[in-house]
Amino acid sequence: DIIVEIKGLEKTYGKNEAETKAIQGIDLTIAREEFVSIVGKSGSGKSTLLNIIGGLERPTSGEVQIEGTNLFDMKDTSRTIFRRKHIGYVFQFFNLIPEMTVYENICLPSYLDHKDPDEDFIQTVMEKLGIYEKKGKYATELSGGEQQRVAVARALSLKPSILLADEPSGNLDKKNGEQLLELMLLSQRYFDQTILLVTHDLEIARLSQRMIVLEDGKIISDTALEGEKS
Ligand code: ADP
Ligand code: ADP
Repeated sequence: DIIVEIKGLEKTYGKNEAETKAIQGIDLTIAREEFVSIVGKSGSGKSTLLNIIGGLERPTSGEVQIEGTNLFDMKDTSRTIFRRKHIGYVFQFFNLIPEMTVYENICLPSYLDHKDPDEDFIQTVMEKLGIYEKKGKYATELSGGEQQRVAVARALSLKPSILLADEPSGNLDKKNGEQLLELMLLSQRYFDQTILLVTHDLEIARLSQRMIVLEDGKIISDTALEGEKS
């Protein structure tokens, strides 16, 4: 059961002398409930690839199908709706709203979609991710690790089928990087998510089920691993 199918993907920023080829011909197929990590040096194209799969950036050429639908054949408004329904995105800097409580932050995608949040589901997510007792706190009252849990809970709130996560970089974030992996494993196990995790940390990537290495915008290796999933 294929959930992501990418063909002939290219992304070029700028023009002429200022041109950067961020993605240079990527073909990639991801099966449902796979846990894929994407590694590579800074500038190798990891974030660009994730942003394109997340529908946040348009490729220069090539095709991206999510759940059999071509992401860039749609109008922008349709893509936004499609994206919210199918794709959960965890950003490096969490992007929580400080004036909102934990619960309100998690419900934000529902509010933006003019939907009533599924309270039972959101309670289960908060419990599984270990933040239920923080639901009434403001985002500013949380530790970095807790903010990350909330960011993952928010990404899960509309029950997407695929979860994209961009790991914070830098040594100080080592602990958050490890926690993000743990949260992704929980999301896969309890909420049947397909996971794409961008990381610069090989030790973290080794705990996933498939490691893709990028270099200069190309896939230079794609390896099945043991992973941790039981
Ligand atoms: P990584 O996530 O692996 O560090 P990126 O996808 O961020 O790599 O970047 C890939 C290449 O594209 C880099 O050379 C980067 O400088 C360039 N790039 C990324 N985003 C932009 C942008 N918005 N405008 C111009 N160049 C960009
Ligand atoms: P961690 O080890 O996960 O980074 P911290 O030591 O930063 O955790 O925080 C421990 C506890 O203190 C957390 O439960 C958090 O909710 C609470 N806390 C942290 N910063 C604040 C703050 N500015 N106001 C209120 N509570 C806070």
